[in-house]
Amino acid sequence: MKITVDRDRCVGAGMCALLAPAVFDQDTADGRVWLLDAAPPPGQHTAAREAEQTCPSAAISVTTATDS
Ligand code: SF4
Repeated sequence: MKITVDRDRCVGAGMCALLAPAVFDQDTADGRVWLLDAAPPPGQHTAAREAEQTCPSAAISVTTATDS
């Protein structure tokens, strides 16, 4: 799994950091996303996908070489 975020699109809603706190955090100044782990372990994949689908600004992209 590979994750990218577009901080220019992020509106700071914080859903990603709530759903997958091991993968995403938010800037304490402006609330925009920080990607903590661009290649998270399998145990984080479901949460990362939920964050991608829940993000209101589509700022998160999750890709996998061998999707499961
Ligand atoms: S859920 Fe989307 S808009 Fe909200 S902080 Fe995360 S990346 Fe930004």
